[in-house]
Amino acid sequence: MDLIQTETPSAFPALCRECRFDTALIRPEETAELVAVNVSAWRQLLTSRDPARLSRRPMTGTNSALEHACHLWHASQDFDRVLWTELPHEGTVDQDQIQAPGFDRSNEQDPWIVAKGLEEATTSITTRLQGLSSRQWQHEIPWGPRLHTIESHVNQLLHQMVHRQHLVILSVLDMADR
Ligand SMILES: [Zn+2]
Repeated sequence: MDLIQTETPSAFPALCRECRFDTALIRPEETAELVAVNVSAWRQLLTSRDPARLSRRPMTGTNSALEHACHLWHASQDFDRVLWTELPHEGTVDQDQIQAPGFDRSNEQDPWIVAKGLEEATTSITTRLQGLSSRQWQHEIPWGPRLHTIESHVNQLLHQMVHRQHLVILSVLDMADR
């Protein structure tokens, strides 16, 4: 099976041609549940497979399942920090969270720790998003050279979760073909 794989989905597609995720269908009030469902799927993937298979890259220049998960973990932790800065809050950013590893070390991580780290970061995000007003969902946050609204950024994170899982599933099927 020949695969056309896009490792990083583009910023704001309506309907992704590859994984079929459609950000236009997501309503802010559904976000927390969708994040939880996706994180649960990632946990299942990371904790039910042989770690050696999780760190296998399907082909040169692509990511292993573990690397995809670490990218998500990073993206979630970064977003959580930005939300902490941008939204009214009490206390400090949660220093007890396990820190996501550098990208060069992603493939050496314990999948159980990655699953836990991803869960912690995304739970923190959905807690911060609870009870946002419709105006706050449209609040713009700095993200690299761009400004994203909180709503568009959550949609993008959800798309990354789905898209990366789609790539992992395709790569498993692809390896089984050989
Ligand atoms: Zn996609």
